[in-house]
Amino acid sequence: MSESRPGGRAGGSGGGVTGEDEVVDLCSELIRIDTSNYGDHSGPGERGAAEYVAEKLAEVGLEPRILESHPGRASVVARVEGEDRSRPALLIHGHTDVVPANADDWTHHPFSGEIADGCVWGRGAVDMKDMDAMTLAVVRDRLRSGRKPPRDVVLAFLADEEAGGTYGARFLVDKHPDLFEGVTEAIGEVGGFSFTVNENLRLYLIETAEKGMHWMRLTVDGTAGHGSMTNNDNAITELCEAVARLGRHEWPVRVTKSVRGFLDALSDALGTELDPEDMEATLAKLGGIARMIGTTLRNSAAPTMLGAGYKVNVIPGQATAHVDGRFLPGYEDEFLADLDRILGPRVKRESVHSDKAVETDFDGALVDAMQSALVAEDPAARAVPYMLSGGTDAKSFDDLGIRCFGFAPLQLPPELDFAGMFHGVDERVPVDGLKFGVRVLDRFIEHS
Ligand SMILES: [Zn+2]
Repeated sequence: MSESRPGGRAGGSGGGVTGEDEVVDLCSELIRIDTSNYGDHSGPGERGAAEYVAEKLAEVGLEPRILESHPGRASVVARVEGEDRSRPALLIHGHTDVVPANADDWTHHPFSGEIADGCVWGRGAVDMKDMDAMTLAVVRDRLRSGRKPPRDVVLAFLADEEAGGTYGARFLVDKHPDLFEGVTEAIGEVGGFSFTVNENLRLYLIETAEKGMHWMRLTVDGTAGHGSMTNNDNAITELCEAVARLGRHEWPVRVTKSVRGFLDALSDALGTELDPEDMEATLAKLGGIARMIGTTLRNSAAPTMLGAGYKVNVIPGQATAHVDGRFLPGYEDEFLADLDRILGPRVKRESVHSDKAVETDFDGALVDAMQSALVAEDPAARAVPYMLSGGTDAKSFDDLGIRCFGFAPLQLPPELDFAGMFHGVDERVPVDGLKFGVRVLDRFIEHS
């Protein structure tokens, strides 16, 4: 894995400002631009971040486009010319919006971008202004030092991911697909971070799949009447029985290829055979990461809201519930059939919002480039596939036939609860992790 021409140029061998020099300031400055996304247009919007990013790209000779889907809801797209323009292009995408934060709960103000205890603190430090900053740092370094990528690289800094991407990735894919002309592969969130098994082995989890979602409303119609009278057709009773059955249902384990790849690598690492049917004990040993992995073994349906009635002595004619359903790639039909069987004929099921599951193979030259870039910077690195239980902008780009990977490389200290940082309090990213990410991304691009 040694390189005669190290991608580590970003590490500062050549005079002038390097990507490693810049990345911390870029991350901190991006965090200071409040881009809280409340799921409507009441937040500050992403325009400020878009203008900041566009300026940083224009400074090194790119011609970024700012695209606004709604006043203030802006994304940025730019194309970096590659050495061989006949090859398909690579997309590097990140979102610039963040979930809101309540400053009172934080050690350092969530929009301060403060650097303390070896970390950059603030909302977006891991989700995902870190990757935005790393991407900017690497691209700026490469262009300042005249190092074209081997093929075209399309950069996308997107609005609205935290609310499903309607005003960001979805908008661009639907209205401006030409921007992604020739793109066949992409990297973005959520992956590339390390999970330390021991000093000689760090797994870097590369996202190759995402669960799909069905958010639904359940309704039971019954017979309304006086609360004192006999009523064998009470909508609340019927609905609650169905919701309780659903909430207690043990969904069968279904091992998809991404989860199989992860379990195989973990078995290897731990030197034990893992039984997917008996994962509880194994997962318990994995700490925080278990929250991300455990739920990718099966479909799930969590009751989340209930509604019925308006007076204690009136039996209402209708009762409703909402359910957050998530399904594995390839198991949507089974999921819906199971749902109907569990709920029974009295319950009407309607979709509130749904999105597809995605999955790609963990193989090919791009995966090799990830692995070799990681090993060059961390001899204990081993890239492994995994499935994300949530969703990202990858679902939109998948519509264009683009193979999407979660690869935002970060080496993390083992004691950091990385999974807990996402949308959590005291979100922060280690400075060393950012610099590591810059070096890895630069090498990755060099061999992509
Ligand atoms: Zn994110």
